[in-house]
Amino acid sequence: APSILWFRRDLRLDDNPALAAASSGGAPVIPVYIHAPEEEAPWEPGAASRWWLHWSLVALDASLRARGNRLRILRGPSLEALHRLAAETGARAIHWNRLYDPATRARDTRIKQTLRAEGLCCESHKAALLFEPWEILNGSGQPYRVFSAFWRACGRSLHIEPPCPAPEVIPDRPESGETLTLDALDLLPRIAWDQGLHATWTPGETAALERARAFVDARLSDYGGMRDRPDRPGNSRLSPHLHFGEIGPRRLLSLIVAAFGDPTRGAAEPYVRELGWREFAHHLLHHFPETPTEPLDGRFGAFPWAEEDVEGALRAWQRGRTGIPLVDAGMRELWHTGWMHNRVRMVVASLLTKNLLVPWQAGARWFWDTLVDADLAGNTLGWQWTAGCGADAAPYFRIFNPVLQGQRFDPDGVYVRRWCPELARLPDKYLQQPWTAPQAVLTAAGVRLGVDYPRPIIDLAQSRARALAAWERIK
Ligand code: FAD
Repeated sequence: APSILWFRRDLRLDDNPALAAASSGGAPVIPVYIHAPEEEAPWEPGAASRWWLHWSLVALDASLRARGNRLRILRGPSLEALHRLAAETGARAIHWNRLYDPATRARDTRIKQTLRAEGLCCESHKAALLFEPWEILNGSGQPYRVFSAFWRACGRSLHIEPPCPAPEVIPDRPESGETLTLDALDLLPRIAWDQGLHATWTPGETAALERARAFVDARLSDYGGMRDRPDRPGNSRLSPHLHFGEIGPRRLLSLIVAAFGDPTRGAAEPYVRELGWREFAHHLLHHFPETPTEPLDGRFGAFPWAEEDVEGALRAWQRGRTGIPLVDAGMRELWHTGWMHNRVRMVVASLLTKNLLVPWQAGARWFWDTLVDADLAGNTLGWQWTAGCGADAAPYFRIFNPVLQGQRFDPDGVYVRRWCPELARLPDKYLQQPWTAPQAVLTAAGVRLGVDYPRPIIDLAQSRARALAAWERIK
């Protein structure tokens, strides 16, 4: 009898344990994607994620066709869709790879219990992570809340099994399995704001593997020195590919080991450590499922967020019109490309939550809708960390100064000039803080503050003091 292979955020054929299990006996495989965004509520994929998903499913279908199969597309509810598909194809087994966000976990548990009670074989597999959240616990059986201890515990077993390659043929049962067209899912935006995404990204497994190989070959050895520079192409930009499971961490690690040997030492270590942060984020989300909206540090439940003009501040931030160049550059990069450099994510999040005292949940929502790599684990960790209320957060009083951050990590202003071209002719000295430039300099550079480019919406020093005072009230 055929087996159903339920694709979710594991949109690849390489290193796919559910596919390996479904095709193990040589019987036909029925691959299916079920569209059921309401089952992920309140974190249904945002607009940028839907765009990515559409093109990733196109690529997956093409890879399956090249191997003699095809992707069935169904609409949820997932349980009903799986029932129908099993009845129609005579499948007796269903395989999928595990996810770790609370809504999906609850749904999957329910589905597994129901299908097993009906006598179907139903198995989930590990594909998204190197370590399961229940495998890495401290001496008292509790999850780690500090990254360094967590990562030490992982490091002891970082020498992993080699991943299994994509099979050359995936036998189908061609006559069965109804399918919708992908267009019927309506994932693409109705208004064309997505040109920047098209120009920046190629979703799909082939592009993911190419990017990973190119990064490991050419850039990985410089990653430690370059990872904080938004003006340089030092990062792997694999985050959306990893989020949608177009490449798995096991494959990535095996490429790194093949080129560099021991992943816990030497040139490869700084990058592998970031993959460790990715694991940590997923483990935290698994153990603390309320954290996408609730602070991990309970004291922050009473934090005195701003009460006035929150909407205005949020809008200026979203549109890249705060008058603070590094922040505006980041927010515009996000809007145009669906991605933002990690250093700049920290700076824009710090400005919003500390200088502007806007609750971190509002920033997390905006990222959720605009990032192509929007990931509940990574986004939650990043926002809580920056706001000071999450696991292993830096001390609250370390508030990023966006001017100093710009001078240090975008020293020649390449990044700011790219995204804020209206400031391009300002000399480096004033580029990160145009409000300090003498009028003659502004005039010579063709910048009318408040006209061509906003004056800063906040005084950095005063707002820093206000944030520290807010912290005093809850600490
Ligand atoms: P690289 O520097 O090449 O790192 C390689 C991989 O390691 C990344 O692809 C990612 O999977 C992982 N990684 C790196 N840094 C982190 C980190 N701090 N936390 C968790 N994983 C990490 N990452 C997301 O994938 N999705 C998000 O929604 C997300 N939201 C964030 C929000 C904020 C406020 C902050 C500060 C960070 C957020 N991050 C998020 C983490 C990080 O910014 C991105 O993973 C990174 O910028 C992706 O670019 P890259 O692939 O070039 O990373």
